Amino acid sequence: MRFRELAVYLEKLEKTSSRNEITQILAELFKKSHPSEIDKIVYLVSGELAPNYKGIVFNIAERLMMRIIAKAYDVKVEDVKVAFKEKGDLGEVAGSFAKEKGGNIEISAVFARMLEIAAEGGGGSQERKITKTAELFSSLDPLSVRFVARIPVGKLRLGFSDMTILDALSVMVKGDKSARPLVERAFNVSVDIGKIAKRVKERGLSGLKEVAPEPGTPIRPSLAERLPSAEKILEKVGEKVAIEPKYDGFRAMVNIWEEAGEKKVMIFSRNLENTTQMFPDLVDAIKKIKVKSAIFDAEAIGYDLKTGKFLPFQETVQRKRKHDIEEIAKKFPLKLFIFDILYKDGKSFLTTPFGERRKILEGTVGKVDGKIELTRQEIVDSPGEIRRLQKEYLTEGLEGALIKKIDAPYKAGARGYHWVKYKKTTEEGVADTIDCLMMGVNVGKGRRTGFGAGAFLVGIKKGEKFETVSKIGTGLTDEQWRELNKRAKKLFVSEKPKEYEVHKNLEPDTWAKPSLVVEILADEITRSPIHTAGLALRFPRLIRFRDEKNPDQVTTLRELEELFEMQKI
Ligand code: ATP
Repeated sequence: MRFRELAVYLEKLEKTSSRNEITQILAELFKKSHPSEIDKIVYLVSGELAPNYKGIVFNIAERLMMRIIAKAYDVKVEDVKVAFKEKGDLGEVAGSFAKEKGGNIEISAVFARMLEIAAEGGGGSQERKITKTAELFSSLDPLSVRFVARIPVGKLRLGFSDMTILDALSVMVKGDKSARPLVERAFNVSVDIGKIAKRVKERGLSGLKEVAPEPGTPIRPSLAERLPSAEKILEKVGEKVAIEPKYDGFRAMVNIWEEAGEKKVMIFSRNLENTTQMFPDLVDAIKKIKVKSAIFDAEAIGYDLKTGKFLPFQETVQRKRKHDIEEIAKKFPLKLFIFDILYKDGKSFLTTPFGERRKILEGTVGKVDGKIELTRQEIVDSPGEIRRLQKEYLTEGLEGALIKKIDAPYKAGARGYHWVKYKKTTEEGVADTIDCLMMGVNVGKGRRTGFGAGAFLVGIKKGEKFETVSKIGTGLTDEQWRELNKRAKKLFVSEKPKEYEVHKNLEPDTWAKPSLVVEILADEITRSPIHTAGLALRFPRLIRFRDEKNPDQVTTLRELEELFEMQKI
């Protein structure tokens, strides 16, 4: 397919915010595409060149893009700047300079060139990037370049997520969304959405049945539900349950395999980023586990070298950086607690009951170098025991307990009652903290003028939309206000993102694009006539910035409603 044809679809997608319409447009596009290009189309419509975990980035900032546009169309950088100021979007700027010609270039060719540009590195790479991108632009028609130019600077946001793509794949083969569960199941087990699309295109839905875990490709992690009391937990999870401490660190999906006689290790975070580089100490220890290949689910948490006590998340989080890794690893050592095994030496255990997986895990992992441990676990059958163990974990500085269903399969990508969390907040009224999206800020008044932001609007997710639940003006330390301001500044956009639903009285001074997730603790959840979610958070306090979560992973309206109902119990 020609890129120009794809650009027409992109324009249609840009013009609508109806999820149904978006799904239909995508389905039609996928239907028309060739099996050899559907994966590329799927990445491109998401503004990417590959799934996130592959870490392909352009490193082209707006300033560099302005130089590229100037070179491509032989105009002055100053003129590009003026146009950018006026239009506020580099895609439109590039499109306005482009000539009505070209348009014959195939999607695969554009994609290959973009990959080549992103892969440029080392000395002189910036100049090579400029030249190659400018060449690419000059071969494109105005509409195509409008979209292509937005991708390197991270501005191709068409307002839908992977879930809409999964729906569209179902519509492509079945004419409706009925195959979505099957497509989603495959995606949960193997998150390369391009690969899934290609498989559906080539082999139809039956091709998805064979999708199995493969070390090196992330599996979407299982998530826990909340319940208001130990009694309810036993009622829902089972008469006998497994209970484990809930460590408050980093989720680590550990992948091990052999390649050319060498052991490879990859660690994926909760939102499936490849975080391997951050944990060289853990990687060394993981290599000592006696398996050829395996996928483990685990949590890494920092501890104090002198006292051996676990560190609160705020300190463990210092390990999340890209520079001075060795140094920080010494200062904040980590322990990896493995709590599940999903695959070993060619065999998938996704459907194996948890009790059996635990036995396999016990037979596979022991203590390694004081850095790796099997998560401790007890089998209990009374609310009293659950409460006692939860208290014990809390006094050890842990976040609480996780109660797990013994005969449940590993539910990749699903939040369900196979795992229930029992945190400190469970006893304090609201059963859990709420992960919200920061949607915009109001300028600070009085003492807070210096921080920039004086209040910020937050929301939760309903389908593809974000609906507001609170405008937060207190409950932050000075340090948190400064941090919020620093982060918010990078996200400002001139117009309200189309997936935001906000009452006009709550519109902030400046909108922020969907990116920053904040964890909020509220005293109470109440009904609200003004917040679009219909519910509001009373006395909200910022617990932390949740860098390990994407906007897609914020609390959903359904979850918030459940938390609201739980308060009445
Ligand atoms: P939060 O971490 O805010 O509670 P979440 O949405 O990230 O929310 P949950 O589903 O609530 O995740 O809880 C599961 C998380 O708890 C996992 O992502 C994992 O990082 C962590 N965890 C800590 N200890 C365990 C354990 N023993 N078993 C499973 N998960 C654990």
